[in-house]
Amino acid sequence: MLPTTVAAATEAPPAKPVRDRLRIAIQKSGRLADPARELLAACGLSWRESRDRLFCYGESLPIDLLLVRDDDIPGLITDGVCDLGIFGRNVALEYDSARRSRGLDSSYSEWRALGFGACRLDLAVPQDFDWTGPADVEGLRIATSYPNLLSDWLAGQQIDAEVVQLMGSVEIAPRLGQADIICDLVSSGGTLAANQLKPVHTMMQSEAIIVGPTGELDETRARIADQLMRRLDGALSAREGRLLLLRTNRTTLDAVLAELPPGETPTITAVDGGAEVSVQVLSRGAVSWQRLEDLKRAGANGIFVLPVEGMLA
Ligand code: ATP
Ligand code: ZN
Repeated sequence: MLPTTVAAATEAPPAKPVRDRLRIAIQKSGRLADPARELLAACGLSWRESRDRLFCYGESLPIDLLLVRDDDIPGLITDGVCDLGIFGRNVALEYDSARRSRGLDSSYSEWRALGFGACRLDLAVPQDFDWTGPADVEGLRIATSYPNLLSDWLAGQQIDAEVVQLMGSVEIAPRLGQADIICDLVSSGGTLAANQLKPVHTMMQSEAIIVGPTGELDETRARIADQLMRRLDGALSAREGRLLLLRTNRTTLDAVLAELPPGETPTITAVDGGAEVSVQVLSRGAVSWQRLEDLKRAGANGIFVLPVEGMLA
């Protein structure tokens, strides 16, 4: 008879419970919270919120939301607690850089850039600092919440400087004497100016992204994720797109077509027995007043520009 210890070792580990619903982590509150929810709602998702507002049960599709701090999302995806996540590329790259410094590969991949939450990771110095270039950083103390990205940059530039890691309020560090300069996220630059700082070098550009695991999802969740991504692509294109409708005479049609904005092939329909035509085209971006005036001059009339609610290629 086999010893019991061997029998135990050959036993299969208890199977992980299979989830048949997709789980997406988004920021609970902060700059990305509302835009992330609005984008998912534009994909036709709706939820029932739990009392503690940490978990939202998806009603229209089997897609649930977990509401957390943005910094926790990469870890939740790495651990398989969540399948997808929406957060800033800055957080993603910092997390990746921390993993690389421990000899680990990336544990998730960027699926789409989402076009909101735009910002830059900048070096900023006191306003009276006479900046000549990155070499000026040598020997300085730099306050940041992005110690890994900053260390990578310093190594790339072969600069020796002290990284002072702070969790928040980085912009007041120079005034408090904690650091000489800072490396922080900037969008309008208003916070820097209010703290007598000026941006001098951009280390990275960021925006909100949706990420998924590097490995494959199981079949059920992969199918739900595919459906979501198709809707997401439609929602993202719809956000940019405009439907342009106009009428013109057959004799001026070529001149009008030459003035159309870049986009899909126009649909041309004969009206009034064929002398007049109606033109419909999907523009890939906003249609300027200048464009409308040029179209009018070329012979278009009854011009409408309409926002697009949804789109499925
Ligand atoms: P949390 O409590 O979730 O950790 P937070 O304080 O890290 O919140 P926010 O200030 O809401 O987060 O910023 C979230 C993300 O918004 C940033 O990681 C970044 O991608 C983006 N962002 C856009 N503009 C800015 C900005 N000017 N300053 C900071 N973050 C910005
Ligand atoms: Zn955060």
